[in-house]
Amino acid sequence: MLKMPPADGRVLARKAEIARALAAIVPDGVIEDKDALRVYESDGLTAYRQPPMLVVLPRATDEVSLILAWCHREGVKVVPRGSGTSLSGGALPLEDAVLLGMARFNRVLEIDYADRIAVVQPGVTNLAVTQAVEAEGFYYAPDPSSQIACSIGGNVAENSGGVHCLKYGLTTNNVLGVEMVLMDGQVVRLGGRTLDQAGLDLLGLVVGSEGLLGVVTEVTVRILPKPETARAVLIGFPSVEQAGQTVADVIAAGIIPAGMEMMDRPAIHAAEAFVHAGYPLDVEALLIVELDGVGAECDHLTQEVEAIGRRNGSTTCRASASEAERLKFWAGRKAAFPAVGRISPDYYCMDGTIPRRRLPEVLQRMEGFSAAHGLKVANVFHAGDGNLHPLILYDANRPGELERAEAFGADILRLCVEVGGVLTGEHGVGVEKRDLMPVMFTETDLAHQQRVKCAFDPQLLLNPGKVFPVLHRCAELGRMHVHGGITAFPDLPRF
Ligand SMILES: Cc1cc2nc3c(=O)[nH]c(=O)nc-3n(C[C@H](O)[C@H](O)[C@H](O)COP(=O)(O)OP(=O)(O)OC[C@H]3O[C@@H](n4cnc5c(N)ncnc54)[C@H](O)[C@@H]3O)c2cc1C
Repeated sequence: MLKMPPADGRVLARKAEIARALAAIVPDGVIEDKDALRVYESDGLTAYRQPPMLVVLPRATDEVSLILAWCHREGVKVVPRGSGTSLSGGALPLEDAVLLGMARFNRVLEIDYADRIAVVQPGVTNLAVTQAVEAEGFYYAPDPSSQIACSIGGNVAENSGGVHCLKYGLTTNNVLGVEMVLMDGQVVRLGGRTLDQAGLDLLGLVVGSEGLLGVVTEVTVRILPKPETARAVLIGFPSVEQAGQTVADVIAAGIIPAGMEMMDRPAIHAAEAFVHAGYPLDVEALLIVELDGVGAECDHLTQEVEAIGRRNGSTTCRASASEAERLKFWAGRKAAFPAVGRISPDYYCMDGTIPRRRLPEVLQRMEGFSAAHGLKVANVFHAGDGNLHPLILYDANRPGELERAEAFGADILRLCVEVGGVLTGEHGVGVEKRDLMPVMFTETDLAHQQRVKCAFDPQLLLNPGKVFPVLHRCAELGRMHVHGGITAFPDLPRF
C-alpha cells in the first residue's frame, strides 16, 4: 500500500494554534470541521484518501505569501490544491499538512487581443479561459478532458495536455509567465508576456513541477485565433494495428492534425452508450482525426487522411458536416472516462507514453497483462502523441482487486519505459507513479532532480511525499559547506 511521510505528532498537537494563525491571515477562509474536511480528502485518484489537518482558502497573493511564510517559520507542511481533478494523487492531503485551496483565485485579470494573451488567476478553470475570449474569435488551445473543472494553476503544475496538444503544444508551450510564491513567502515572477525571456528558463522548470516548487498565484497564457475551419473525421478499423499504422502514416505524410485520438472497442461502446456521438459499433478501433485551417486546406487534408485510412483497410469513414457534429464526435471521446465509469464500479486510469510505432505490440502485451491479472481494460489514446490512457476496470469492494489493478498499472508503465517511452504523458507522477520513478531514472538522475527541489524549498515543506520515491533531506544531497570549521547538519551520516 501507498506509504506517505509519517505525520509529525508535534505539529498535530498544535492544530488549534495553527488554525488561529491562519485565521488571522484569512479570517473567513479556514476549515477545521472534521466533516467539512472530508470534501478535500482525495483528488481524482480516489483510491487514496486522507483528510487534511486544516484547509485554508486565500483570495490574494499577499495572503498566500503570509500563509507560506508562517508555515515555513513554524515547520508546517503545505499541499497546494486547484480543483482536485489530478489523476496521480498530486493534491492528496497529508494528515499533518495544511491544504492550500486556490479555488477563490477565480478572476480573469486581463485580456490583450493585440498581444494575444490572457492574464488569469490560477483557480480559473481551463474552459473559462476559452469562454472569456471566444466572443472575439479566440481560444486557449490545451484542452484536457477535465477542462470544465480543472484549474489553470493545476494545469501549470501538471503540464496538462489535451486532444489539441498534438498541433498546438502542451501547457508548457502556451504559458508565457507566472507569479509564484515560494515556500518562505517570497513572491517571484517568472517569464513574462512574450515567448522568450532573458536568463535561465525557470518558467520551464516550474511548469510540470507538481506543486513542489512554489504556489502559482497568476498565469499569463497565449490565446489563439480560432481556425477558420475545423473538421473531425471518424475512421473505423477492423484492428488496432491498422488504426495504429494509419496514425504513423499520417504523421509520416507531413500532416499534423489538430488532434488524433484512438479508442478501442470497449471504450467506443461505453462512450457511444453514454453520449450517442454516432460512433460505429462494428469496429475494433476508431480514430478521430481533426483537421483545421482555411477551408481549402482543410478539404485537402481531409481527403489525404481518408485515403491513408483506406490504404490501411478502414471499414468506415465519416467527416463532420457541421460544427455541432464535430463537437458531438469529440463529446464521446471527452466523456470516455465517465462513460467507462458507467460500466464498471471502479476504474484506474493509467497514463504512459510510448513511441507511436510500438503501439500494436504494447496493446498485445497489455492483453496478456489483462489475462494475468484477471481484470478488463478499455483503451483511449492521444494516438498522435503516443500517450496511452488504459482504463483498468475493477471493483474496490472485492478484496484484492485494487491491489491487482495497481499491479496491472505498474506492469503497463514498466512496459512503456521498456519500449522507449516514459512513465507519464500528462497526468504527472504524484503519488501514483512515485515508486516507479527508479524504473525510468537512475539514482543520480533523481538526486539531481531533488537538488532543484532543494533550491526552491530546502526544508521540503511543499507537497512532500509526491514525485520522489525517497525524499532525502537536502543536506544529504552532498551540499557539504563547511564555514569556519563548522559542518552543517553534523548529525547526518556522510558517505
Ligand atoms: C475525467 C478527467 C479527465 C482528465 N483528462 C485529462 C486530460 O485530458 N489531460 C490532462 O492532462 N489531464 C487530465 N486530467 C487530469 C487533471 O484534470 C489535470 O492534471 C489538471 O491539470 C489538474 O488540475 P486541478 O486544478 O484539478 O489540480 P489539482 O488536482 O487540484 O492539483 C494537481 C497538482 O497541481 C498542484 N497545484 C494545483 N494548483 C496549484 C497552484 N496554484 N500552484 C502550485 N501547484 C498547484 C497540486 O499540488 C497538485 O500537485 C483529467 C482528470 C479527470 C478527472
